[in-house]
Amino acid sequence: KEPVLEIRDFSVDYGLGDQAVRAVRDVTLTLHRGEVLGLAGESGSGKSTLAYGVTRLLPPPGVISGGSVTYHPPGDQPYDVMALSNAELRAFRWAETSIVFQGAMNSLNPVHKISTQLLDVIKAHEPRLSPQARLARAKDMLKLVGISADRMDAYPHQLSGGMRQRVMIGMALVLEPQIVIMDEPTTALDVVMQRQILAQLVELRERLGFSVLFITHDLSLLVEFSDRIAIMYGGRIVEEAKSADLYKDSLHPYSERLLQSFPALRGPRRELSGIPGSPPDLRGMPSGCAFHPRCPHAFDRCSTDVPVLGVPAARNDPSRSVACWLPGRIPVG
Ligand code: ATP
Ligand code: SF4
Ligand code: MG
Repeated sequence: KEPVLEIRDFSVDYGLGDQAVRAVRDVTLTLHRGEVLGLAGESGSGKSTLAYGVTRLLPPPGVISGGSVTYHPPGDQPYDVMALSNAELRAFRWAETSIVFQGAMNSLNPVHKISTQLLDVIKAHEPRLSPQARLARAKDMLKLVGISADRMDAYPHQLSGGMRQRVMIGMALVLEPQIVIMDEPTTALDVVMQRQILAQLVELRERLGFSVLFITHDLSLLVEFSDRIAIMYGGRIVEEAKSADLYKDSLHPYSERLLQSFPALRGPRRELSGIPGSPPDLRGMPSGCAFHPRCPHAFDRCSTDVPVLGVPAARNDPSRSVACWLPGRIPVG
């Protein structure tokens, strides 16, 4: 599969010098063209920091402390996002990537008609389009997300919650980006809404061919809708696999626990177990494998050596990787 965004050894700190804490550690992750990649992990694991870092939208005191991000435009030469000038970045962000911030699904401006809000986005980024062409583009997009032309001049409060979400999706897609990043688009509790959004994105991506990075606490949602899943813990990716493989046969003890802490997709409802212990503190990251104080399988090596993310020897399947010292999970080579 062709890559669209390649993140290599990417690290982000908050603060400088002695005050710095590392929130994202040596992350290597590839988003492929047309796929839906899910990113899951407990609160504070670094998901948002990674998303904002790779699009260079990190608010201070965030600092990118290492790594590269290569973007592959369709049919053109790849380039390094970290090397773009501010003007180039602005173009990249809108034309190539579209990012929906955490909790942004309720952020439509209440005093403007939805048509105005959509037209403003188009106008700001494609100033050369004629007003008629802009209107046509806005109409097409609303139609695509299931909002009929007679609702174009509605104000957000005149629409149902579901319709407002569809407008937001339309705003994210109206410039026809190659990559859509959705960071927990509704609050963590609105799993039903997140499900609708993800389902709709999956359907639209088949028609429009963009790639999605979908960030959520809810792993069951990702198991259902994403092609692949990456799991973050303490700022690192600890496992990456096709959704079905992760669900059937997760290799990292943390992934296993995370899967157990959500309701089963099928079959009888069981008691949710939660994950004992608390997420690591950036100021006092455990030595070795950051998960070792909470891991039921931890042994000597776990508290001294940081496990490397790689293709597990026992599986010999290049679509999977895991960072764990358990036998059979250590990477080949
Ligand atoms: P959530 O699921 O709650 O959104 P997350 O996985 O998105 O969590 P981040 O928001 O990326 O996590 O935070 C990663 C770590 O960086 C956390 O420990 C957080 O406390 C820390 N952090 C985030 N923003 C800042 C900041 N502005 N200054 C200092 N530390 C920060
Ligand atoms: Fe558990 Fe050790 Fe694997 Fe970390 S490396 S997940 S502590 S077994
Ligand atoms: Mg977040």
